[in-house]
Amino acid sequence: MKKIGIYIHVPFCVRKCFYCDFLSFPAGEEARERYINGLLREIRKESVRYKEYEADSVFIGGGTPTVLSGEQIRRLMDGLKDGFSFGREPEVTIEANPGTVDIGKLESCREAGINRISIGAQSLSDKELALLGRVHSTEDFLEAYGLARKAGFRNINVDMMAALPGQRTEGYLDGLKRVIDLEPEHISAYSLIVEEGTPFHDWYGEEGKRRKGIPAHFPSQLPSHLPSEEEEREMYEKTGEVLEAGGYDRYEISNYAKPGYECRHNIGYWQRHDYAGFGLGAASMVDNVRWKNSADMEKYLRCIEDGFGDAKEEQCVLSIKEQMEEFMFLGLRMTEGVGKDDFYSAFGRSLEDVYGEVIGKLCGQGLLTDGDRVRLTPYGRDISNYVMAEFLW
Ligand code: SF4
Repeated sequence: MKKIGIYIHVPFCVRKCFYCDFLSFPAGEEARERYINGLLREIRKESVRYKEYEADSVFIGGGTPTVLSGEQIRRLMDGLKDGFSFGREPEVTIEANPGTVDIGKLESCREAGINRISIGAQSLSDKELALLGRVHSTEDFLEAYGLARKAGFRNINVDMMAALPGQRTEGYLDGLKRVIDLEPEHISAYSLIVEEGTPFHDWYGEEGKRRKGIPAHFPSQLPSHLPSEEEEREMYEKTGEVLEAGGYDRYEISNYAKPGYECRHNIGYWQRHDYAGFGLGAASMVDNVRWKNSADMEKYLRCIEDGFGDAKEEQCVLSIKEQMEEFMFLGLRMTEGVGKDDFYSAFGRSLEDVYGEVIGKLCGQGLLTDGDRVRLTPYGRDISNYVMAEFLW
């Protein structure tokens, strides 16, 4: 059977973080219940397309899926089990935020078949958490982590963020080391990106310097600038060193795991496996056709509830050129890089034939290494956006 990854989008959060541009917002109990019912209906209707597929990963992301009740999460999992065949040991992840879980909810997740939890810690400094607009404290994170273990989770990811306003490398690394001491199986460490349309963008703009409107509840506390590019690079390099010394392998630009605990679902994205997305704004890619559900809640729910119209928008068939581009810029994100045999199997053309010139140039600049596999060098990882852009024709 063909394999497929399933993504479920739960767009609800307790409140919006100041840096967040994800499709997420607060909602009351009634709205959450209506959404779950819509989601279940969508899964029931759409899963008939996937009868020849076997789901080997599920990722319930958001938003904050753990704002749902244990009972809603169980119904969601039951809906998936009714609609899909599952492989023998599927990886089933739920994203969770501290402050939205208790032991009962976590046990419900385990009983429903969820075997991996990704906890958004982001920082272990209460001051930084407040600046980010997170709803939780360091204490809440430590408690959530302990409860997840107690509920039986043997595969835990912790999300951390670097390059926060006013952050220094030492302080950031202290937090990271405290996370390592907890021995999660997986750690993701991303640098803050100031996205347009967020309060952070209003405060710091592109230049990373505080520019206007200190929020009323932060009188004089908003740091004057974001870390410089050099500081950010130093944090990134030290992240790798500290995590590797702690027994974690970097298997993707920003993702680290103990051996055997790499995130199967995300590897599926980077290796361009098929995935089916359900829920508001969720994207899917099957047989090189990509589509996205509407990001308008009323429209999404009306299409699902009335059974008329289609919640899908932005459908496109990827050309061979687009598939090759993606194969390169997603594959190069992984430490193992892009295999020449894999490229040939996918496209019936050699990598040299299609990208020989670009690869030669980037090797010459010290950004790639060439062999059976093409990989980023450490310098290439530092400026990976430039490297990836070179593969776009
Ligand atoms: S918890 Fe995550 S999804 Fe929700 S607002 Fe904060 S960053 Fe965005």
